[in-house]
Amino acid sequence: MNIVLFGPPAAGKGTQAKLLTTERGYIQLSTGDMLRAAKTSGSELGNKVAGIMDRGDLVSDEIVIALIEEQLENNKGAAGFIFDGFPRTVAQAEALDKSLQTRGTSVDCVIRLCVDDKVLLGRIENRFKEEGRKDDNPEAFKIRLGNYNEQTAPLLPFYAAQGKLSEIDGLADIDTVSTSVAKILDMHNTGRSLRTKPFWKRILGLK
Ligand code: ADP
Repeated sequence: MNIVLFGPPAAGKGTQAKLLTTERGYIQLSTGDMLRAAKTSGSELGNKVAGIMDRGDLVSDEIVIALIEEQLENNKGAAGFIFDGFPRTVAQAEALDKSLQTRGTSVDCVIRLCVDDKVLLGRIENRFKEEGRKDDNPEAFKIRLGNYNEQTAPLLPFYAAQGKLSEIDGLADIDTVSTSVAKILDMHNTGRSLRTKPFWKRILGLK
């Protein structure tokens, strides 16, 4: 099962992705976490992306696609992946489709957490106070939101056209959002097994 968690910065993607890793054993692939780890380690990549991230801009497609490729390669037997903060551009989404296709799999569903900008601003102000992430300052946040609207939101019609997009209210509390996510995934799992399993195997309870 490959899931894309979709939404603007601070929509709650990371929180829901972490819950899914513990509940379902899927692997969270957060390009933001990977890039922050590179930054903290002081690697060549980290130094290259530090300034871009701090001002709230997007790192190049090439870099994030390579990070994702590496993780897909390193986790070949995984039950599923949760893509969190990736893809963020149409080029990234196309690269992901291709990469999964070569591995005989695909994006199964895209879950959009719908939130409004005012609430996001409040969340970011709190996170800035608590965690001190440089890109959570109001100026960088404005840039991140702008980038989301210009470069990431166009992915919504891309995935809608593939019939993969589900939307949920991201303003509800964490448990309610998590229940909504679970419902969507369970529907997908049932739909898939009914579609892919021959009728006689289902009747006999065979795998
Ligand atoms: P948030 O969802 O709160 O915006 P992330 O942790 O996903 O934060 O990303 C933090 C920063 O890392 C982004 O603002 C951007 O600079 C960089 N980044 C993360 N993922 C991508 C991506 N897929 N493409 C380009 N840049 C990315």
